[in-house]
Amino acid sequence: MISLRPYQCAGIASIREAFGALRKRAPLYVLPTGGGKSLTFSFIAHGAGAKGNRVYILSHRQELIDQISAALDLTGAPHGFIAAGYPTLDAPVQIASVQTLVRRLDRVPQPDLIVIDEAHHARAETFERIIREWPRAKLLGVTATPIRLSGEGLGAIFDHLITGPSMRELIEGGYLAPYRLFSPPTVDASGLPKRAREFVTAAAEALVDKPAITGSALEHYRQHADGLPALVFCVSIQHAKSVADQFREAGYSAFSIDGTMERTVRRGVVEDFRDGRIKVVTSCEILNEGFDVPGAHVGIFLRPTQSLGLYLQQIGRILRPCEGKSHALLLDHVGNCYRHGLPDEPRQWTLAGDDGEAKRKPGAGVRICASCFRALPSQAKTCSECGYEFPAKPREIEQRDGELAEVTPEMLARRAERREQGRAQSLEALREIERRKGFRRGWAEHVYHGRLAKQKKQA
Ligand SMILES: [Zn+2]
Repeated sequence: MISLRPYQCAGIASIREAFGALRKRAPLYVLPTGGGKSLTFSFIAHGAGAKGNRVYILSHRQELIDQISAALDLTGAPHGFIAAGYPTLDAPVQIASVQTLVRRLDRVPQPDLIVIDEAHHARAETFERIIREWPRAKLLGVTATPIRLSGEGLGAIFDHLITGPSMRELIEGGYLAPYRLFSPPTVDASGLPKRAREFVTAAAEALVDKPAITGSALEHYRQHADGLPALVFCVSIQHAKSVADQFREAGYSAFSIDGTMERTVRRGVVEDFRDGRIKVVTSCEILNEGFDVPGAHVGIFLRPTQSLGLYLQQIGRILRPCEGKSHALLLDHVGNCYRHGLPDEPRQWTLAGDDGEAKRKPGAGVRICASCFRALPSQAKTCSECGYEFPAKPREIEQRDGELAEVTPEMLARRAERREQGRAQSLEALREIERRKGFRRGWAEHVYHGRLAKQKKQA
């Protein structure tokens, strides 16, 4: 029998409490990638199944189906599959491919509990149809990043948020590998056009799918991690192929994988990577989720993204601890760390989703060493990699709305002031600011009436 980590036991207890004492229908459990989500919900599914409940565990990708099956095996839960190409078995717990289940809704019995793995997809149309089909079933969502690519929250489906340990806590506990993140100035994605809050793929592809850029990525790989197993995150299938080609030409055994490949071929690549026969795997979608290979020491990031969720999912792939990995090496060539901060900086999740700055906590942000390009917390005074000393008067550069801008202390002060003023909703709160800051008398009324007039105009 497998033993659980203390935080996994706590997570299971919180989920049971949500369904039990708290009488919730649909809790959402958040745990960083690599924290062992599958094992945690497998215990819940096993327990529910043993009590005679029918449990469907929904998954949208083949690699995840295999992983969930392995996790259920560890808990000893008998289980079957509702998925093309998998055996049908009569068991209380079923792992269901979303694509297959949605076609068999009228033929399968009603579940008592639906577990949604990678629940940030839960508002996709197929998931929603399944959830709507059985309104009385309880739901359990699990995800590392409870926001959709669009930034929307998951409050429309889930009614209770359970937050497990943070990425930093998992690193400190030795459950995830510590990392060194470098951000060499390879690509400036700041001018890329956006659609639905993400960079337009074709434009991003045109920007990054160039021999010079892949060459720069190659050079940094050689410098920092020559020959170590690496995953490369690309913009498109075509981009992944050309990156793999160029790595092969440089003498590394490199392959690209994508969703159009046969399942067995994909599985073969994963196995060859695990066993060290393939050193570099490139992909645009497959690596983001469900590619569970602790042996990946290096992540090479060539896909600019506006999505915090995607950023964290990708990095999580590389942080799985394993023998001989003292550090995970993250090579961010597209400035994603500027946009989203260090991967383990503190974050506050809510069911309301990504509310811009609301999610970033004080002390967040990165600064890049001008000498070796290591990404460090914004408060760092010297580079822990090369000893470079940041100038005493920092000229910080930050990326906002696609523009690189120098941030001065005055700007920060003005911004803090605007935020404080925005938070002061009542006239009384505004008067308090007026008193405290020594603003001229009548300032609060002026701001308050200005707001009312604006609201009227909008109404
Ligand atoms: Zn440095």
